[in-house]
Amino acid sequence: MGEDLEKLKQRFSLLDYLRQQNWVARPAGHGSEFVGLCPLHRDTRPSFYVNARKNLFYCHGCGQGGDLLRFIQLSRQLSFRQSLAYLQQHEAASADPAAVLEQAAAFYQQQLDRYPEALHYLKQRGLHDLALIKELRIGYAPGGSLRRHLTAQGYSCDLLQRLGLLDSQGHDAFYRRVVFPCCQGGRVINLYGRSIAAAFAHRFLPGSKGGLYGWEQVQQCPEVILVEGLFDYAVLWQAGFRHVTCSLGTHLNTYQFQQRCDRPRTIYLTFDVDANGSGQQASQQLAHRLRARGISTRRVLLTDGHDPNSFFVQGGDARQFQSLLEAAQP
Ligand SMILES: [Zn+2]
Repeated sequence: MGEDLEKLKQRFSLLDYLRQQNWVARPAGHGSEFVGLCPLHRDTRPSFYVNARKNLFYCHGCGQGGDLLRFIQLSRQLSFRQSLAYLQQHEAASADPAAVLEQAAAFYQQQLDRYPEALHYLKQRGLHDLALIKELRIGYAPGGSLRRHLTAQGYSCDLLQRLGLLDSQGHDAFYRRVVFPCCQGGRVINLYGRSIAAAFAHRFLPGSKGGLYGWEQVQQCPEVILVEGLFDYAVLWQAGFRHVTCSLGTHLNTYQFQQRCDRPRTIYLTFDVDANGSGQQASQQLAHRLRARGISTRRVLLTDGHDPNSFFVQGGDARQFQSLLEAAQP
């Protein structure tokens, strides 16, 4: 508890908190000191000092001083325990989900090298280029350690549950999964977890998956390859096809559809050729919708049972894939 409490306090800036409460201050002498009217007593001359570096306050008028928790106790007339609960709630309300997801993604990325089964799985899926794995920030969720890592940084279990990183019992939600962070505008907005065991192959955290994966890199390209899965995306990148984007499934949300229609371009639809034909059906429907919006489309026909990932895993190379692109029919 003691150590967690220290971390919780460290992550909160007393100065930021005071400013959120509309405290007006000016610098006092050295860089990290600020002074303003005391929020704790009727003050006529600024006598309330905050040391931003030490995260402490002291008032020369009423003689009160201490850290952020002490300030909350005094200003809200709460007990120590109540102040702690208040601070945690305040955090949950003001926490930036992207910052927490960023921490989770970084943690999973660090785990990847420590679990041979994860690297073995990537190899099985045709991914061997370590620089690429790093560039895409692919990580591994062994299960059972994210909670410890994030709560040690002071994040509450309640917040982690709301983001879906922990399940309703408070356990890590991702267990034995290879993890891809999904980013938009440079911020992590979701995590995709591919099970390396039998259970529920594909999972995202609750909340938006955002737009097309990797869209920002290809937005300017006159020709774009569209795939449905992140492993398809990754092997194409590895093979040198960088004008590729991923819809994270065959069903496109409205936003993804809009993104694709923002300018004239040719889209190479490279969906799975699965036994039940659902991938191709989705691809045909999408081609119709895109053509209706003036976007030219080509359907890349892989051989039966293949998706771009299995195409490369089973020995297909860049030159052969390029021929498939060239042979693609409207
Ligand atoms: Zn005072």
